[in-house]
Amino acid sequence: MNPTKPIADNGHFAESAGDHQPAASSRKKVLLASPRGYCAGVDRAVIAVEKALDHYGAPIYVRKQIVHNRFVVSSLEKRGAIFVDEVDEVPTGSILVFSAHGVSPAVVAAAEERGLQTIDATCPLVTKVHREVQRFAKEDYDIILVGHTGHEEVEGTAGEAPDRVQIIDGPEHADKAMVRDPKKVVWLSQTTLSVDETMETVEKLRIKVPTLQNPPSDDICYATQNRQVAIKKVGAASDLVIVVGSANSSNTVRLVEVALQAGAKAAYRVDFASEIQEAWFEGVSTVGVSSGASVPEVLVEEVLEQLAERGYGDVRNVTTAEEDVQFSLPKELRKDLKQAGEDTSNKTKR
Ligand code: SF4
Repeated sequence: MNPTKPIADNGHFAESAGDHQPAASSRKKVLLASPRGYCAGVDRAVIAVEKALDHYGAPIYVRKQIVHNRFVVSSLEKRGAIFVDEVDEVPTGSILVFSAHGVSPAVVAAAEERGLQTIDATCPLVTKVHREVQRFAKEDYDIILVGHTGHEEVEGTAGEAPDRVQIIDGPEHADKAMVRDPKKVVWLSQTTLSVDETMETVEKLRIKVPTLQNPPSDDICYATQNRQVAIKKVGAASDLVIVVGSANSSNTVRLVEVALQAGAKAAYRVDFASEIQEAWFEGVSTVGVSSGASVPEVLVEEVLEQLAERGYGDVRNVTTAEEDVQFSLPKELRKDLKQAGEDTSNKTKR
């Protein structure tokens, strides 16, 4: 179940400034999607690295990008975090944080073997999918993992039971699924996929395997779903949509796709406001704005400032849900902070 409060959909937007009729007005304005930006899993992972830097001191090693955002990664690098691709790049005895996307048991074992002190910042909603893989593999199921080949989260999840998991990367690959026993096959998914495209993939899988079982609960997380619902409303009423986020952020890239599918005439992803191009604004009166789940709000504010300079200073919130999800810090870190009498909450000064 989605642990957030949806806003009643009465056919009108929930806005901060008056009653908006999407198609009627040609005045320049911005529709700002909400929810957008940081999710609970990203917030927790970033705070975990910040608190680890404060508590243990630099350097703190992080396997892969802690979250898929260039700005966040370079901000943490400036504070003393060192991002590595693999465990064998980390000096023995160092502290290593596993990113929000999760790791396979083989990576955990490699870190142990190297004598590293690890902090697991895997999002609890990714861990939930890992547990589902463990459970179904134990019951000798074939597990069809719908997700993007090569994405870190998918590698980590599939690594829980490599001999039982098949990755299906989109509806066009559904016919590649191989099943040993049609009574024992379940589909699970990456947490940051497009809801609509995933359903299309599952429908195609069901043509081949009609007995395919559903996941015990939604694997596509609340944050991904909420941001897609909001951008659908915004996209349907916008000439141009700008989504803030990095190219390797799956949920960000999905927001661009969903905006276009919802009817936006054009949609672009930018890491920074400086990437916005003059040519995008030809004949545009309504600009939709959102951001991926790994994007700090300061980057959206910079985009809004730039839009205001171009005459798009009338910003209206399009709110489709309220979120109040929070995850506590990784247990290894909490334990050390507690022992030292330091604050164990997932709050920082930022
Ligand atoms: Fe967790 Fe979803 Fe955020 Fe990923 S996008 S870190 S699964 S809450």
